[in-house]
Amino acid sequence: MKEYWSTRIRDMVPYTPGEQPKGRTFIKLNTNENPYPPSPKVLEAIQAAAGDLRLYPDPESTALRDALAELYGLKRGQVFVGNGSDEVLALAFQAFFDPGRTILFPDVTYSFYPVFAKLYGLSFREVPLNERFGVPVEEFLGENGGVILPNPNAPTGRALPLEDVRRLAEGNPGAVVLIDEAYVDFGADSAVGLVERHPNLLVVQTCSKSRSLAGLRVGFALGHENLIAALECVKNSFNSYPLDRLAQAGALAAIQDRAYFQETTQKIIATRERFTGQLREMGFQLEDSAANFLFITHPKVPAKALLDGLRERGILVRWWDKPRISNHLRVTVGTDGEMEALCRALEECLSAELMAAF
Ligand SMILES: *Cc1c(COP(=O)(O)O)cnc(C)c1O
Repeated sequence: MKEYWSTRIRDMVPYTPGEQPKGRTFIKLNTNENPYPPSPKVLEAIQAAAGDLRLYPDPESTALRDALAELYGLKRGQVFVGNGSDEVLALAFQAFFDPGRTILFPDVTYSFYPVFAKLYGLSFREVPLNERFGVPVEEFLGENGGVILPNPNAPTGRALPLEDVRRLAEGNPGAVVLIDEAYVDFGADSAVGLVERHPNLLVVQTCSKSRSLAGLRVGFALGHENLIAALECVKNSFNSYPLDRLAQAGALAAIQDRAYFQETTQKIIATRERFTGQLREMGFQLEDSAANFLFITHPKVPAKALLDGLRERGILVRWWDKPRISNHLRVTVGTDGEMEALCRALEECLSAELMAAF
């Protein structure tokens, strides 16, 4: 029943986002949202901006880009903004990658990348991560049409040292290296400081996670003016106003309130560290995470059983039926209270499953 569909999309399998439940209230640890609300200044700014909704927004998002440029020590022309970083990534795939040249990304990574690649008819190769989900940097050097990977990686939470990002940029002079830093504020080193020296390096970030603004849809890219101009070219051939007035005003206020950002980010990091230890004591295996989620597996109880058991107990986490990771759960770091509830529910699920197996 795909009559009238263009041949380009007939075989598309779109990305499936994590569930946003309606009706029953769950403890939501499934889509890496921030457990804390945005800065109060964000709401004030959005209220003020709502007075002007009759008028189109600034197509250049000038004030927001200037604030981001100031924060990262760049020029306005080195900053691009979009309607969530998913949109920025989609535009980047179109701007920098060509059909006929193979792009590379890890086998265990953000599952939107293969979707974008297929949408634009790009060939890609999924490079296997090592045993402990580390990135084999050498495998991303040599002939390719572009490299994309998140740092920290999702859903593993593992961070790549900055020196490795530098090697990726330097070792691929003929292609764009795109570092998706959706979670970088929770503990990895940002590659922003490298963009001046590496004209092929594009860093993509988002206000959805560390700025508590998943609902506002603001993402951005930082890189050489030439790369930003390419993104502008695609954007202006597609939608002149991807960020509405509320999004521009709210994101600007969030970027400017550095103290609030520091405070909430530090709280999440502290919670993550505490519960990493607690989950290990409960028998879970997990690598240290540099993100706002933990990627956990249990040697005795299948992840799918835990997923279902948690859901029955009112807690949502994320699970993928995919090679290498189907026995893992990705658990967002919530508040201390939410994480305590998670641990209690996991204890119950573990004993129920182990009893049943006995
Ligand atoms: C959440 C996420 C994004 C996208 O976030 P937006 O809400 O679209 O800004 C991009 N990359 C990774 C790896 C993510 O986990």
